[in-house]
This record gives sequence, C-alpha cells and structure tokens, in this order.
Amino acid sequence: METMKRAYISGTKQTMLMETPIPEPKEDWVLVKVHAVPLCTEYKGWLNGHEYSGHEAAGEVVKIAQPGKVKVGDRVVVMPGAPCGKCSYCISGEYIHCQHMVNTTEFSGLKHGGDTHVQYLIKQDWLLVPIPDGISYERASLACCGLGPTFGAMENMNVNAMDTVLITGGGPVGLGGVVNAKYRGARTILVERIPFRQQKAKELGADLVLDPDDPDIRSKVMEFTNSIGVDACLEAAGVVEAQRLCMDVTRRKGQIALIGECGEDLAIKASPDFIRKGIVLMGQWHYNLNGTFKIMKVICESPVVEKLITHVFPMSRIQEALEISASHNCVKIILKPWEN
Ligand SMILES: [Zn+2]
Ligand SMILES: [Zn+2]
Repeated sequence: METMKRAYISGTKQTMLMETPIPEPKEDWVLVKVHAVPLCTEYKGWLNGHEYSGHEAAGEVVKIAQPGKVKVGDRVVVMPGAPCGKCSYCISGEYIHCQHMVNTTEFSGLKHGGDTHVQYLIKQDWLLVPIPDGISYERASLACCGLGPTFGAMENMNVNAMDTVLITGGGPVGLGGVVNAKYRGARTILVERIPFRQQKAKELGADLVLDPDDPDIRSKVMEFTNSIGVDACLEAAGVVEAQRLCMDVTRRKGQIALIGECGEDLAIKASPDFIRKGIVLMGQWHYNLNGTFKIMKVICESPVVEKLITHVFPMSRIQEALEISASHNCVKIILKPWEN
C-alpha cells in the first residue's frame, strides 16, 4: 500500500510526523495532492494535548473515481467538513450546517480520513473551489478560514462603502475581516491588544485600531461615528467582553455577527439591547457555497490580501509553526506538505 506523510498533535505541546496510507477516491470523492495547509485554531489542541489535524487546504486534483465537477490537474481550494450533499442545507449552499455529515473514518477506512495536515486527502468534488490562473495555492487557501467567516458575515449583512464596520479580535479571522471590509470600501475599526496584530491591521488599511483595555473605547467608537454607532459588528475574539462591546456600540437598526467560538454566557437585556435598538444578531461559521466565486474575486483583486500570510513552513516543521501560532505574533501560517 502506498503511504504519505501526516503531521499531528501527539500530546501537550508535542507533534509527530507519521506514514499513513493514501486514501482511495470513490463515488464523487476525488484525491487531492495537498500543496498548502493554513493553520487555524490547531494551536489550542496543541496547548491542551488534544489530537486534531486540520480542516483547511488547497491543492491539485490527481485522481478521480468517476466523471464529475472536477478533472485531474484542476487546482482547487478544499472546503471544510464532509456534508451529505443531499439535505436542504447542503442544496442551498449552507452545507457547513449539514446534520448528516459523512463519517470520514468509515467512508475512507482510515482513522484520519478527514485530516488536512497530510500530503493527500479525499473530498467530495462539489466542495472544491477552482483557483484562478496565476494565483498561488497559499494565496488561494485564504478562501478557507482566513477570509471565509467574515466574508460570509459581510454577505449576510450587505456590508458596503456606506458602512462603518467594527471587528473585535485581530487574529487570522478578524484581520481577514479587515481585508474583506476594506475591499468593500467600508470604514473599518479593529479592536485588538497585541501590538503585532494592531500593526498588521494598519497595514491592511484599518481606519482606526483600538485596544480592548482602553477604558474610553466606547466613547472613541461613538466619536468616530458621529455619536451614531457602527453599522455592523463582527465579533471574532470569542470572549464575552468583546460580545458586550459589540452590543454597546452597534447603532440602532444595526447588525452583529458572532464569529468567534465561545462557550461562556453573554448577559442580554431584551429591552435596552434589542427591542429599543432594533438590532439583528446572527451567528456566522463559514459562508454559503454560492459565494465562492465572489471570495475568489477578493483573493485575486485585494492589494493587501497576501499580507495575511506571515509564515510559511515545511509541514515537517509543524512544531515550530504551532509555537508561533500560540504566540499570536503571526496571522496566517501555512504548511507545505511536500517541502523539507
Ligand atoms: Zn447535508
Ligand atoms: Zn479554519
């Protein structure tokens, strides 16, 4: 049996490379040779010793089982998950919310059949987004979580050049939000405390960068918006304080998208927070499949999008990559599975 390299978290702050069988394409699942693997929140598993091995990738189709939506040689971005493709969520492009995810271990016969920290993976052909000519795998891979969640939120909120947008959290998702917001012509505020990420927000074109520990943060936002408040908030920090800030600085009839994962309670008062302000609060995980050509437009045309990529490592140096990821002195880190 032919094998490939897989990188994984083997314990608290530990990683390993292993040889594992190359999965076999069948039905509408095709084999992708992986060329770029963006890191996401894997560092959290690395800090806690939870084995977890990625959900973002871009690569080249090298083998198909049946004629379908892609052919051998196509360059593609790999969308996350293993949705069923048949339910109402999948049919309408909201596959990320599918209730009937395929069990990739069962389907592939491989324990780690759904991982992306690998040299080859299998994926349903309809979850592969074509990469335009001249765009690198690394740049194109920002169509995963780099730009994806905030793109989805801005599509739903119709963010445009009339708007002032506030984004909390300057990690890879929040800074991707700055790229999306500036591409759409919106005035953009980024709330972040780490100096490296504050500086990056300015490079990406943020109009105002605020520190969440600043006691005057609310009055500074109001001053920036002529005492009206912001039109749209994107919460990408995943902490209650940031959620509360969004509730407080969104204008009447404005919108808030919760993007940062969080299991803590946010206290809400129906009258002052919602009824009197008339705001809309939504949850946003990924983006509708119909948006893939538009997000590729951002990737092709944004003059700053590549600044989101701060580090590129051979996959064999995953330990070093996760150390930097956990330090937060980075934005998007990309692993190269075929480099040494
Ligand atoms: Zn489904
Ligand atoms: Zn991700």
